[in-house]
Amino acid sequence: MLKDFFIALSQNQFLNSAAKKYGLRLGAQSVVAGTNVEETIKSIKELNAHGISCTVDNLGEFVFKKEEATEAKEKILEVIEAIHENNVDAHISLKATQLGLDIDFDFALENLKEILKKASGYNMFVNIDIEDSSHLQPSYDVLDELLKEYDNVGAVIQSYFHRAQEYTEKYKDLRLRFVKGAYKEPAEIAYQEKKDIDANFIKVVEWHLLNGKFTSIATHDHNIINHIKKFVKRNNIPKDKYEFQMLYGFRKDLQLQLAKEGYNFCTYVPFGKDWYGYFMRRLAERPQNLNLVAKQVFNKKTNTVLGVAAGAFILGRMSKRNKK
Ligand SMILES: Cc1cc2nc3c(=O)[nH]c(=O)nc-3n(C[C@H](O)[C@H](O)[C@H](O)COP(=O)(O)OP(=O)(O)OC[C@H]3O[C@@H](n4cnc5c(N)ncnc54)[C@H](O)[C@@H]3O)c2cc1C
Repeated sequence: MLKDFFIALSQNQFLNSAAKKYGLRLGAQSVVAGTNVEETIKSIKELNAHGISCTVDNLGEFVFKKEEATEAKEKILEVIEAIHENNVDAHISLKATQLGLDIDFDFALENLKEILKKASGYNMFVNIDIEDSSHLQPSYDVLDELLKEYDNVGAVIQSYFHRAQEYTEKYKDLRLRFVKGAYKEPAEIAYQEKKDIDANFIKVVEWHLLNGKFTSIATHDHNIINHIKKFVKRNNIPKDKYEFQMLYGFRKDLQLQLAKEGYNFCTYVPFGKDWYGYFMRRLAERPQNLNLVAKQVFNKKTNTVLGVAAGAFILGRMSKRNKK
């Protein structure tokens, strides 16, 4: 119920546009690396100093105008250049909708090709994040087209989908990121129960570790991480065939610990002004993330009208739920 509420908020275009005007608020600054490239490079350097590599995402949602998609492409090209110039250990994550998938397939494809061309010149990997089910097949179609010309590209498999195994086998020769899935999907196509999503996650990750090219295990779930640690040991899977990934700002201690233990670790580093949808999905996943909101709402210095109103609304809903 709370998950549905935050997913609905994440899809609200009015609040999304309002939030962009106010800069990072409501605690989003703890989980978004910065609003510009300079701040983001600084955050990447800090993570690199701990032996952690990064995948950098220029946040952006609800792109329905070509100018906005072109602006997003230019920003991503700027990040690629900055990663190269600063010689930091990082690559790119992006969403096909941000580059115009909802406007015109060929237009989005051309934008992606330009990004891949620049990244391949620097031997840099580009990951296509996968969004909700309405964009799933179009995003994989974009991927299929890109693979005809480029090999520095990979994508995501969401284990809540019944067809996750089929997608894993189709794209086994790519570097794949495995996640549980962040959107609300109908029961006809996606598992709804955590135990089923987790079981499918383990199934597809293990299959890809044994049969695939390179596996990014993207979860904050310590039970799954511990399970995979035992699996790779038992099956002698070399460390250069996989990595663990988590989102910037979450479970920082565990991120550092895994890197310290000698596992390849990559942090997903989102940046930019369009933080609202990303942040609401994080609240949908884990209501405890509301702690981040509470800290900001009660800090007078960082309050804004939007912050107070939205924070009170969210906390109100939380307390009502706890009383039940
Ligand atoms: C690097 C990365 C990239 C992603 N890319 C995509 C994408 O392209 N498409 C997409 O749909 N989704 C993506 N996601 C989101 C993903 O689908 C999940 O929604 C999200 O990761 C939450 O699931 P989880 O596996 O982390 O664990 P959950 O199922 O949310 O949590 C499992 C358990 O882990 C523990 N836990 C989780 N978080 C915390 C925390 N912060 N502190 C302490 N304990 C915690 C708790 O015990 C919890 O019960 C991505 C996630 C990551 C990490």
